[in-house]
Amino acid sequence: MTILSAVCLIGLTCSVSTQPVLIEAEAFDDTGGWVIDQQFMDLMGSPYLLAHGLGSPVADAEHTLATEPGQVRVWVRTRNWIAPWNTPEKTLPPPGKFQVLINGDPLQKTFGTSGEPWQWHDGGVVEVGESTTLTIRDLMGFDGRCDAILLSSDLSWDPPDDPKALAAFRDAYRPPQEELDSFDLVVVGGGTAGTCAAITAARLGQSVALVQNRPVLGGNSSSEVRVWPQGHVQLEPWPNIGDVVMEVIPAKGPQSKNAQNGIVFDDSRKQRLVDSEKNITLLLNQHVNGVEMSDDGKQILAVIAENIRTGARTRIPATLVLDSTGDGCVGVLAGADFDITETGHMGASNLWNIQCLCQDEDPLAADLKQACEDATFPRCPWALDLSDKPFPGRDWGSTEAKTGEANPVSIGNWYWENGFDRDSLADMERIRDYNLRAIFGAWDAIKNVDGRYPAHQLNWVAYIAGKRESRRLLGDVVLKAENLRDGTSFPDGCVPCTWGIDTHFPHSSYLKGFEDEPFIADYTRGEGYVYDGPYWLPYRCLYSRSIDNLFMAGRNISVTHEALGAVRVMKTTGTMGEIVGMAAAICREQDCLPRDVHGEHLERLKALMSTGAGRVESQ
Ligand SMILES: Cc1cc2nc3c(=O)[nH]c(=O)nc-3n(C[C@H](O)[C@H](O)[C@H](O)COP(=O)(O)OP(=O)(O)OC[C@H]3O[C@@H](n4cnc5c(N)ncnc54)[C@H](O)[C@@H]3O)c2cc1C
Repeated sequence: MTILSAVCLIGLTCSVSTQPVLIEAEAFDDTGGWVIDQQFMDLMGSPYLLAHGLGSPVADAEHTLATEPGQVRVWVRTRNWIAPWNTPEKTLPPPGKFQVLINGDPLQKTFGTSGEPWQWHDGGVVEVGESTTLTIRDLMGFDGRCDAILLSSDLSWDPPDDPKALAAFRDAYRPPQEELDSFDLVVVGGGTAGTCAAITAARLGQSVALVQNRPVLGGNSSSEVRVWPQGHVQLEPWPNIGDVVMEVIPAKGPQSKNAQNGIVFDDSRKQRLVDSEKNITLLLNQHVNGVEMSDDGKQILAVIAENIRTGARTRIPATLVLDSTGDGCVGVLAGADFDITETGHMGASNLWNIQCLCQDEDPLAADLKQACEDATFPRCPWALDLSDKPFPGRDWGSTEAKTGEANPVSIGNWYWENGFDRDSLADMERIRDYNLRAIFGAWDAIKNVDGRYPAHQLNWVAYIAGKRESRRLLGDVVLKAENLRDGTSFPDGCVPCTWGIDTHFPHSSYLKGFEDEPFIADYTRGEGYVYDGPYWLPYRCLYSRSIDNLFMAGRNISVTHEALGAVRVMKTTGTMGEIVGMAAAICREQDCLPRDVHGEHLERLKALMSTGAGRVESQ
């Protein structure tokens, strides 16, 4: 059937004739308590709505549209997110169960209960009038997910499930692509690295587009992930390298640790700094998923960003491009050389914390005077069964946890990690979901098996995964751990590395019963993993050896898996951004490419390094 008709994207009125209507869940007028999750759109085709209620069903999402009166078949694109673990006998009802209501009436079928892959599920035939209200109602509070709803007046038509056919189907509903004027530098990825690069380049007179696929800046150091930036900067002989980093990072206080309350990570500080730079055009909620290349395939002419709410695409042309996405997203689209450690790499974490609801002086006492009835938690038979297993928070088995403060707010720290032997890109939704199963399994065991923390509830569980390792784009130098250990000196050393060679692996104390899919990490330390610092990482790790106008900063730079352990902390990745901002300014000034900054203009780079790009006194 020809599909040319209506789409309901935000801000547009939609109407329908006899063609199917596609309603993207993330574009609903009112997303209620559901959150927009764009993390896996390169895998399953779209952002989706997630019911991340920590055990309490979230408020309804609702959308009203004009429709042609008559019968329509309703299709819902979703999946049963615990299906990969094949535990059907325990899992009725599955945690992701939800309803779809048409004009207030629930469809007979419920969703999120079957099917491992993302698919269209037939919701049956209903009668609609001139106006139709769609409601997505969460029934469980445990991460149900809805990608889109289709209304088809052709009752015998099946929507496409094949990814390519589905992408083409979606494209027919997309608004026309927008075009921006060309920039000197487009920075893709607004983590610490990308934010520092954009600010530095802008202060040195570049026109910069900063493209970030979330509503806030900061990446892992944002309130969405809550990792506190480590590493040392402002060190001799380059005491001004790190000045911008120290402006971007919130002032250090007693709560400057992982998994604390969101305010500690001060998203607004980064936004304010970026907003104050007139040379930066900030594009939030925009996910880069396309590039346009020169005829010889050596240069990126433009990147294409997709709005995670409206689906609208924007073409952003630029002379130079920085990939600070962490995953090397732009590099791989451009065909850049990259390396990846397929197994035995670091995993991803979803940090979490808890809070006390009671007024008692000792909230851990079993006989609370003012125990909160609200602080109950449902059993989670579909989660990791930790009822008789050790885990940090129950058995303080890991060194880190032992030395960590007893403050239960820190219970959900960095060591809740999995995915060590999984594909860190293709399996990413599963890796995130396994972290959720571990967290909910642990809290179920603490509350319902041990009866501990009677007045506490889950306060926050990140649905955005904190990632540590995936692709590393290759530059003219690939830094190895031996370089750090041996103190190999490079003439273009520019980024101060001070963190140990800290890579992660499954923690042996928590492996029993989870040998195939560990959920707690340990880390390398001690002899062989330390070096004399600061070690100055060479500039040649910060541009692509195969794509002439592509820079890298952050965890996707040109290093080996082991060396990544030392360079990945965020004050360090921030200084990579500063150096790229300076190099981009030299490229414009000298009309040259990133490689030429090393070959011909290294002294100029050093002059900029000695001045720095900071605006305030260091902290
Ligand atoms: C649980 C955990 C604990 C850690 N502990 C510490 C610690 O204590 N201290 C420390 O300093 N470091 C720590 N690290 C390491 C550190 O957080 C990472 O190495 C760091 O985030 C890398 O910085 P980045 O800027 O490269 O990436 P990120 O912080 O991941 O930023 C990349 C940004 O790009 C965005 N993005 C990705 N793809 C696209 C796209 N296609 N289009 C647009 N935007 C995109 C992402 O949303 C993200 O915001 C930890 C990491 C984890 C996961």
